[in-house]
Order: sequence, then C-alpha cells, then structure tokens
Amino acid sequence: MTPYRTRFAPSPTGELHLGHAYSAWVAWQAACCDPSHFVLRIDDLDFTRCHDHFRQSQIDDLHWLGLSWDAAPLLQSARMDRYQQALDYLQDEGLIYPCYLTRREVNAILSAPQETSLKDALSDKELNDRAQKGTKAAWRLDTTQIKQRSLPTSWHDMGYGTQPLSLDTMGDVVIARRDIGASYHLSVVLDDFDSEITLVTRGADLMAETPVQILLHHLLDLPIPHYAHHALVRDDTGKRLAKRDDARALKTYRDQGDSPEYVINLSQSLIK
Ligand code: GLU
Repeated sequence: MTPYRTRFAPSPTGELHLGHAYSAWVAWQAACCDPSHFVLRIDDLDFTRCHDHFRQSQIDDLHWLGLSWDAAPLLQSARMDRYQQALDYLQDEGLIYPCYLTRREVNAILSAPQETSLKDALSDKELNDRAQKGTKAAWRLDTTQIKQRSLPTSWHDMGYGTQPLSLDTMGDVVIARRDIGASYHLSVVLDDFDSEITLVTRGADLMAETPVQILLHHLLDLPIPHYAHHALVRDDTGKRLAKRDDARALKTYRDQGDSPEYVINLSQSLIK
C-alpha cells in the first residue's frame, strides 16, 4: 500500500492531551509510520495565544509517542508572504472584499439579513472614511461572486461519507483576519498544498470547517486532498477534552512513568 502523506498540526497554545495523541496517531498510521510521509505543522498564526515553550513540549510529546518526521516542522508564522500572495490573487479575481465592520455591526446585519448584506452595509464614503482613519480591514469571501463559478455541491469524507457544500450556509467567511492578516482556512489550504499532503486526518469537530477549505482549494485552483475526520476522545461526561484539562495532558502520563502504548490504548478506549 502506498502511504498517504499526512500531517499533524497542533497549535502551541497549551499542552497536548489524549485527544491530540489519538489524532496524531491516526495521521501517523495513515502515513504507514514513515517519517518521509508525515509532516509536523505548527499552527502558530494566532501570535497572542501561541508560546514557544508549548511548541517544544508538544514536539517532545510527539517524539515520546514514537512519531518522527524527516522535514523540518512547517511554521505558519513564517509563511505570511505566501498567504498574502494568495490573498492578492483572490482579490485580483474579485472573489474577496475588505470588510471594515465591527463585530457588533456584523452581528446586527447577520440577524436581519433581508435589510442589507455584509458587503453592501457601508456606503463608499463610510468605507473610505474608515480606511482613512486607519481601521484595518478583514477580508471576506464574496459568495455572490463565487456563485457565478461552477463549483461542487458536495464533498467526500472517507469516514462520514458525502457531505454538503453550500455557499448559502457558509456565508461570506473571513479569510484574512484584521489582526493577523490571514486565517485558519487560508493557511491550512496553502500549507496542505505546499507540503503535498494527500490525506487530511483530524477530529470531527473540524468537519464543519472543511467545506470552506475545499472551496478555497477550488478558487485557488489547487488539488484537493482526501479527508478523513475521526470521532473525538471524550471524558466521562461526554465532553471533548480541552488543553486546560491538565489531568489528561500527555506530559502528566509521561511524568508518572506510563508508556506510550498505554496512552495510545487509553485514547482509543475513550473515542466516542
Ligand atoms: N491547528 C488545528 C487544531 O489544533 C488543526 C488544524 C487542522 O487539522 O486543519 O485544532
């Protein structure tokens, strides 16, 4: 069997827990435990929440679990030029627009969509005034323009089957945040393409995000990887684990002398 080229992409905003161990293990198995087919990506775009010490302890945890990778980890924070280049292209194609609205204004418009759209809410003058005052714009997908293109109406998940892809449900998603200049969606699509990922494995909590990413692959004319979302590790009450849930941190198991096999088995037993 030819291994897929897969990735594990933690955000260095806390310690990895059992849920991450399971996710990393799924990606590693799909790569046939071959370091030349496995990519570690550090999703550190949100610089206000990411810390180097978490990045290092996440890498230590993954090595402890037995995972390894040949290429140097891909750091999103080092790829801002690449994201900007894609934004320039989407702008030239008329597929995105700058949005100067505040969060409160956006919420008000979305709760009464028949009155105006996010794109048309400000007059040209208001738009210029805000730009002149130095207000930074977020960039949103222009679904009205995008609808003119011929696009798929569904996508396939290897575990969950055919899923809908609806521009109406999606709305004018932000693909460049005003504070960061890029977004999770944009970076993930470009990173997966540039690192030649053939299969994206990740938790089912991210399944709702996938249509936006598939759409971006189409708009940027990039091949679409396979997707396989997996069920999540949950605690006794059925809640999915959070990074602040220290009791389930891999570091805790490591420090108390548990083996990686024990941790993987435990994570598998908590999948729901
Ligand atoms: N960095 C994301 C997370 O930690 C994962 C992104 C992805 O797999 O697409 O949830």
